[in-house]
Amino acid sequence: MSLRIYNTLTREKEDFIPIDKNEIRIYSCGPTVYYYAHIGNLRAYLFMDNLRRVLKYNGYKLKHAMNITDVGHLVSDADDGEDKMLKASRRENKNPFEIADFYTKAFLEDMKKLNIDMPEIICKATEHIDVMENYVKRIIENGYAYETEDTIYFDTSKLDKYGVLSNRNIEEQKAGARVKFDNKKKNVSDFALWIKAPENHLMKWDSFWGKCYPGWHLECSAMSEKYLGEVFDIHTGGMDHIPIHHENEIAQSKGYSGKIPAHYWMHVDFLQVNGGKMSKSLNNLYTLKDLEEKGYKPEVYRMFNFSSHYKKPINFTFEAMDSAKIALSRLKEGYKKHLLGNDNIDEKIILEFEDRFLDAINDDLNMPQAMSVVWDIIRYEKKSVKLAKVLLKFDSVLGLKIDKDEEIDLPEEIKKIVEERKVARANKNWSKSDELRDKLLNLGYTVKDTKDGMSIQLNE
Ligand code: AMP
Ligand code: ZN
Repeated sequence: MSLRIYNTLTREKEDFIPIDKNEIRIYSCGPTVYYYAHIGNLRAYLFMDNLRRVLKYNGYKLKHAMNITDVGHLVSDADDGEDKMLKASRRENKNPFEIADFYTKAFLEDMKKLNIDMPEIICKATEHIDVMENYVKRIIENGYAYETEDTIYFDTSKLDKYGVLSNRNIEEQKAGARVKFDNKKKNVSDFALWIKAPENHLMKWDSFWGKCYPGWHLECSAMSEKYLGEVFDIHTGGMDHIPIHHENEIAQSKGYSGKIPAHYWMHVDFLQVNGGKMSKSLNNLYTLKDLEEKGYKPEVYRMFNFSSHYKKPINFTFEAMDSAKIALSRLKEGYKKHLLGNDNIDEKIILEFEDRFLDAINDDLNMPQAMSVVWDIIRYEKKSVKLAKVLLKFDSVLGLKIDKDEEIDLPEEIKKIVEERKVARANKNWSKSDELRDKLLNLGYTVKDTKDGMSIQLNE
């Protein structure tokens, strides 16, 4: 089956038809780097990773850009509240650039730990202020903006339709409608493009309109246009982006080029905790580090995410994480058993498994279905090295590193001997190396030397 994806824009599952089949262009809304990413945020990037891997499995090359929001994202996704970066800067008594730097690094570390296949282009908002400025100027030239005393707003009433993703009615949004709104704006759905910075504002840049800073939505329109062109293939984000952020990105693109910037819009649903919202006040907001401290490796969280389709909410519980942990060990064991099997298996069976897996991932990334094919292989009574190879091929989509032994937490004493043995081997002192290997064996650990170094396991 060729790839089909659900498109929020048309509200239908559609055949994926690339603009240029030699290179798929994707844009993903990235993190606001004012704090550590929580595991809900991380679900959004695991989804992004899943999409990339499925496209690559289908043979496509990718050009994918993701932004890092380090300015302009207000506490509310609309134009209310303080900039999240400035709030963090007060909380931690650091300047906002230090905050951004620190949490960008933390985010990238999380991505690495989760084995996320990263976009080819990572672009920071603060490094593209000039690109945003030019973008705004063209929107103004095209007649889609108006000025108030301190803000340049996008005029949504100039569009043929605002709210194409969430299918809202523009009449309801106009001034005088039921909703109360900032009366400096002409229409309730208008939003800030370019804002005059107050005297003591920490993030501001010289511009055609004096010292200003950009509205949050602008960075995605301006940077996607710079790196991917006016129209590209796929735009991704969390489902909370649908009603405001992505509507506003589309509005800006229409004001800039008259076009909707992406053909397919994909949105991942939320991670819930114990069936409800995850929040600091409920004390149920976890980071990847929290999970690690509780004994769950990042790959266990990756495995857990395959239990639900990305368009459905997923409920986080520690019981579910325990199940994912066990499942991952079984998967790795099952792979090893096939690896030790013989070569004797009908090609037809292999092709059937491969077809079923492809059908599942190409059916709008149906990972629960794809995992059921994986389990059928693990449980298959005939053990075959050919099936191990099939699993390894599927793992290019799963990203679980099923061929890598699980790392075990070694006691300090053992770590010391392992290090000593590494030194002995580096010095080609083979007798010392053998002596230490036997010592480890007596202490209950088996060492195997591999081409990439050594692996260590608890004795069976
Ligand atoms: P932010 O860093 O706040 O801009 O959010 C980063 C990403 O996380 C966005 O794509 C959000 O849609 C997504 N997100 C936020 N909360 C959750 C959640 N509980 N589950 C899944 N995704 C989320
Ligand atoms: Zn965005």
